[in-house]
Amino acid sequence: MHEHLETAMRIALDYLDGARDRAVFPDPADVERLAAALDGPVPAEPQPVADMLALLANVAAPATVANAGSRYFGFVNGGAMPATTAASWISTAWDQNAGMRAGSPAAELLEAAAFRWAADVLGVPATGGGFVTGATMANLTCLAAARHRILDGAGWDVGADGLFGAPPVSVVVGDEVHVSLLKALSVLGMGAGRVHRVPVDDQGRLDPHQLPPLDGRTIVCLQAGNVNSGASDPFTEIIPTAREAGAWVHVDGAFGLWANAAPGRAHLVDGVAGADSWATDAHKWLNVPYDCGIAMTRDVEALHAAMTTSAAYLGVPGQAEPHHNVPEMSRRARGIEVWAAIHSLGRSGIGEMVERACRLADRFAVAMAEAGFEVLNDVVLNQVLVSFGSDETTDRIIQSIQAGGIAWMGGTTWQGHRAMRFSVSNWQTTETDIDVVVGAVLTETGRLGLGGGHS
Ligand SMILES: *Cc1c(COP(=O)(O)O)cnc(C)c1O
Repeated sequence: MHEHLETAMRIALDYLDGARDRAVFPDPADVERLAAALDGPVPAEPQPVADMLALLANVAAPATVANAGSRYFGFVNGGAMPATTAASWISTAWDQNAGMRAGSPAAELLEAAAFRWAADVLGVPATGGGFVTGATMANLTCLAAARHRILDGAGWDVGADGLFGAPPVSVVVGDEVHVSLLKALSVLGMGAGRVHRVPVDDQGRLDPHQLPPLDGRTIVCLQAGNVNSGASDPFTEIIPTAREAGAWVHVDGAFGLWANAAPGRAHLVDGVAGADSWATDAHKWLNVPYDCGIAMTRDVEALHAAMTTSAAYLGVPGQAEPHHNVPEMSRRARGIEVWAAIHSLGRSGIGEMVERACRLADRFAVAMAEAGFEVLNDVVLNQVLVSFGSDETTDRIIQSIQAGGIAWMGGTTWQGHRAMRFSVSNWQTTETDIDVVVGAVLTETGRLGLGGGHS
């Protein structure tokens, strides 16, 4: 056991040591080499563990994406901090089943502390919830609680009787709703296509003046942090009146909710604490290893009603169990890395990490604007959208940066225009990293004879 785990640790440390300097996206030849190496049949006989580890180290690692480095700006991907990877290694060695109290007192207590701390850092009055794989599942978990509460109010037991013949539930979303929320609605049988879509402004914020009439049969889904622009819906103008009307307000705050952890950015999500439920990610801005999201609600009763199963062998009847808070039963204790992150950073460290990412995003935006390129969004958080002129030119520049290996960022379409989508979420990104990327972009635009670029 020692031999293999020590070899694995050395391989992992070598990998992490090189992560800042390697190509951010792998060379296609390395990807092909891995595909060829994996093409064989099931081994007929046991194989040496050392051979398996060597394959991971020498053939698979070159085909990884350098999320663990400092110049990955795609999607909203964080990178795991050393404290969280270390906690993850220990937790993996423990191999606890966090679904049941009887499965692990340590996991239950660490996750309970992590949940309480996370809600506190995020500034939301959540009393119930749990750790799931990401914001998609967190949205689903919260919306299941909402569905239960709304239908229970209409005298319908959705858990027992399902949705066939149930009183209709209205779901209101902004037109810039994240696809994962629509997926959650679809999986829950509430229909991704039958939502009422409210128009949004030029930053993607839901226009509160165009909300339909709301009542106790309505779920209003708001957003903290638009996945492209980083903008949040105007919570103070929507949440109090929606809740007074009896609606359930859910907030998808996959990364944007973390603005509340940074004193200088908290105003961006003013009023978010008034909602009924919140979904967020820890693998994005909190920089814990994949995968980890958090579902949070103030309505523990509705959540338990939506998630509870009972069987004689699963625990003490009437006693709350970890699996009463989330869809999964058996699962790993992914809250341990959240606890480790908050323990090691503290409130001030988390605030600084969020603030730093915002400032670095701004540094990139300022450099692009100074070079004569159009920044399409108000850079209030960690997201920047840049157009380099025509859609074709913008896509061409994104592709050449991706292929160059110095950094990786994706593309998107923002209000009809192709844009480079630049997101800063990694704890180790520095000003130098930003300047390196700016240099690479300007070299490319210079080559194409664009803007104020130089080469
Ligand atoms: C990333 C994101 C999601 C989905 O989160 P996963 O962790 O990928 O499941 C949902 N909503 C928003 C706003 C996001 O940015």
